[in-house]
Amino acid sequence: MTRWSIRSRLIVSFLLLIVVSLSLLGGYILWYFYQHNVDTLTNNLVTNARIIEHLIKDSMAGPMEKASLDARIKETTSNSNIRITIIDNNGNVLADSWENPTLMENHSDRSEIAAALAGGSGQSIRYSTTLAQNSLYVAIPIVRNSEILGVVRIASTLAQVDAAFSQIRSTLLAAILFTSLLSVALGIKLARNFTAPLEKITRAARRMAGGQLSEKVYINTGDELQLLAHTLNNLSSSLEDKMAQIVAETNKLELILHNMDNAVILLDRYGRITTANKMASEIFDLTPAMLGKHNLHVIGSSFFDQAVHEAIAQNKHQVIDLKTNFDNQKRVFQVFLAPVTAASNDIIRLLAVFHDITALQEINDRQAEFIANASHELSTPLTSIKGFAETLLDGAMNEPELRIKFINIILTEAERMHRLVKDLLQLTKLDSDEYRRQVNLEPVPIMPLITKVAQELKPQAQRKKINVEIAPSSDCIMALAHPDWLKQVLVNLIDNGLKYTPDGGHVHLSCWKEKNQVMIMVKDSGVGIPTQDLPLIFERFYRVDRARNRSAGGTGLGLSIVKFIIDMLGGRIDVQSQVDIGTTFVITLPLADKS
Ligand code: ADP
Repeated sequence: MTRWSIRSRLIVSFLLLIVVSLSLLGGYILWYFYQHNVDTLTNNLVTNARIIEHLIKDSMAGPMEKASLDARIKETTSNSNIRITIIDNNGNVLADSWENPTLMENHSDRSEIAAALAGGSGQSIRYSTTLAQNSLYVAIPIVRNSEILGVVRIASTLAQVDAAFSQIRSTLLAAILFTSLLSVALGIKLARNFTAPLEKITRAARRMAGGQLSEKVYINTGDELQLLAHTLNNLSSSLEDKMAQIVAETNKLELILHNMDNAVILLDRYGRITTANKMASEIFDLTPAMLGKHNLHVIGSSFFDQAVHEAIAQNKHQVIDLKTNFDNQKRVFQVFLAPVTAASNDIIRLLAVFHDITALQEINDRQAEFIANASHELSTPLTSIKGFAETLLDGAMNEPELRIKFINIILTEAERMHRLVKDLLQLTKLDSDEYRRQVNLEPVPIMPLITKVAQELKPQAQRKKINVEIAPSSDCIMALAHPDWLKQVLVNLIDNGLKYTPDGGHVHLSCWKEKNQVMIMVKDSGVGIPTQDLPLIFERFYRVDRARNRSAGGTGLGLSIVKFIIDMLGGRIDVQSQVDIGTTFVITLPLADKS
């Protein structure tokens, strides 16, 4: 804060100006007045001295005349308040109107006497101890026939001049005092007039600085202050606009950040978290109290921290894949790190955008796994075919028994490959979005479909003497499905039932309505599935007993195709099984309106 306000400075300046100028003027007037009075008195004294010189000139000729001189002088000036002193050319006092000359000392050392004895006229102002006053001394030489005979000195007190001087001085001092007081009062008034608009502008500027940008100040002085107020109003208006723009932009940004499905975190140069959006807070369990903490405490990954430091040190953006495990949820993020620089090119923040690629990563992993499994499944029969073909060429061809056996094996393996490729193609087809879009769901009568599939698989059942029973049910039960897909489901399930049921066993097929759903059951009295394998049987290429199931001709894809189709139809498949007793699959599908 300033110690002196403009107003007090103006008042003090005013006062100083008035006091200094009046003092100078008063001093000059006083000096001039005193000088003028002294000059006038001096001239009078000189005139008187000339008259006296003229009168006594001749009396200075002889000793007799000199002796009578004192009496004459005393007589002449008896009624006057001026003092006349006659001095001879040696400085001895011959006559004095007030004193006895014989008692007076030699006067040749007095400055005015010395000047007169030198031929000029002398003048001096001294304090007279005789009169106890300041006195003016004027001396002129007494010249006769060009010879200086002595000196006439006239002295007069300066009492009148001093009295007049002190009177004028008092008057002047009073005038200065009065004028100063007047100027202070005037100064206060003028300063107030001058500073009032300034104070108004200052108050308005303070309120604007406090955020009240709609504040306006109106001044009508017609000068620079009015211009200043106008400029201030313009400034606040444009600031208000800019602020509104900034607030709108910030809100927009906050809205985007808030609703983004990517986690966004802002870190400072030291790797501490300064800001986080809603998604980041959810993923990393970030509470507002944790803002300002180091990323290691929040994200807990030294790999991420290292990437942060590298991005800051090199001032270059970085992309890393980060695996996290928060709340027992494993996730993979592709993290984009970008340094945020200020105008001075200094790094002030680091932006980290976390793109959740868990699903993508899973798809990639599953695809890689699928390709590996498919290659493995294909390579097994191929190796077998290659091996038996080579053995045949190596000579086994010549032995009819072996030849037929090996060729049969080659045929079986080729059929297995064929089935595998067929299943793979089917999966690929079902996986294709384009194919799925083309297919429309329609009401499919279930019983005729079950009968048809059982009929198609009859030779297989007969081979194993398996009794396929179809429970009687209404023909008009219809599911909202796709006939080809649903047929594939039934083929796979009934085929499995026949495959994994020993000779002479049973396969039971039934269908019924339950609420708005169609239930289809495929039940067998087969080998069953161990409980621990049940959750895995719908996985691609999963087989309970690899060696046995491969020999049964399975590809490991049948149930995964079933699950895939049922999911697409919006249904559900449940399985119950007991080893050596049998397995039951129950499909639930939406009921078609017509039924
Ligand atoms: P696969 O072509 O080998 O039969 P699936 O995907 O159809 O492959 O079946 C996966 C595995 O589930 C089979 O290998 C088999 O072990 C088991 N499985 C499927 N259906 C039955 C069933 N009805 N009885 C016993 N095990 C079964």
